[in-house]
Amino acid sequence: MEKLRKISVLVLTLILVFSVTVLAEERVDRYDQVFDASQDAGRLTARFLRLTTRSDDKSGDSTIVTSPDGKVMVVDAGNPSTFVDIDKALKTLGITKIDYLVASHPHVDHIGSFAQLIYAYNIGTVYATEVEYPTSHYRNYMTALEETNTPLVILAEGDTFMFGDQVMVEVFHPAPGIEYYEGYPDGSTQFINNHSLLMKLTYGDSSFLFAGDLYTAAERDIAARYGDRLKSGVLKVPHHGAGTSSSRPFREAVGAKVAVMMSDAIEELRIYRNYANSGADTYITSIDGAVMVSTAGDGEYTVVSQLDRIGSFLN
Ligand SMILES: [Zn+2]
Repeated sequence: MEKLRKISVLVLTLILVFSVTVLAEERVDRYDQVFDASQDAGRLTARFLRLTTRSDDKSGDSTIVTSPDGKVMVVDAGNPSTFVDIDKALKTLGITKIDYLVASHPHVDHIGSFAQLIYAYNIGTVYATEVEYPTSHYRNYMTALEETNTPLVILAEGDTFMFGDQVMVEVFHPAPGIEYYEGYPDGSTQFINNHSLLMKLTYGDSSFLFAGDLYTAAERDIAARYGDRLKSGVLKVPHHGAGTSSSRPFREAVGAKVAVMMSDAIEELRIYRNYANSGADTYITSIDGAVMVSTAGDGEYTVVSQLDRIGSFLN
């Protein structure tokens, strides 16, 4: 009996090793393709990074956007331990200068790597909202701005600026003049997320909407006021695809063809399905890896994800 048991264990081990090998072979890694900049000229391209946390904090968001005329924008920069991922992506793309470094809101999973980026790269201008949040990460980032003499521009609703010669940026939120409540920043998570930057990049008939970590309260208010002006081909899904966000009025106003969630896991299957069922090509960086979305400004989008989906468990 003992011999039989040993044989069974051996057979099971062999099956397991074989399966893992087959899975590994099937899971093609297109990292080099996602971060191949050779086709970027004349196109607006966003690369939504897959960040891996090496700390207790969520990994967070970071997107590298390149304009048709070669300007570089980085929207958010994960927690401090994800700097290696952002640095690798920038180096693979051959980027040494970040013309526009944008903070959606000052939580650690969005500005965590700002200080490291500011010291390591040539930064044109940092763009942020008015919201201040006195944590060590925030102070490190403010110190880095001062020590490097990097200009900081505060964005608020109604602002517009050009990203290169052909891409217009519009800011829909937050409204100017933040009013802090008594006792701020105690219990401020929701307040800060609801004051995230909502920013739309438009190139011809194509557009990308960056929604930070907005919750449904702010989304509903913005959707009621701006309606169709929010319409965008590509959406950086608010708050990592969590159930706090992506209300129906907001999703319908945006009407995204491509929706990307940057997260460490599927935050909420319901939210994923809401996007997918509305016809959006929906990606989750923890499953699909880094995602590149590129357009010539004609309203059509080319998408390359780093990894293939195994099975259709999300449908
Ligand atoms: Zn976040």
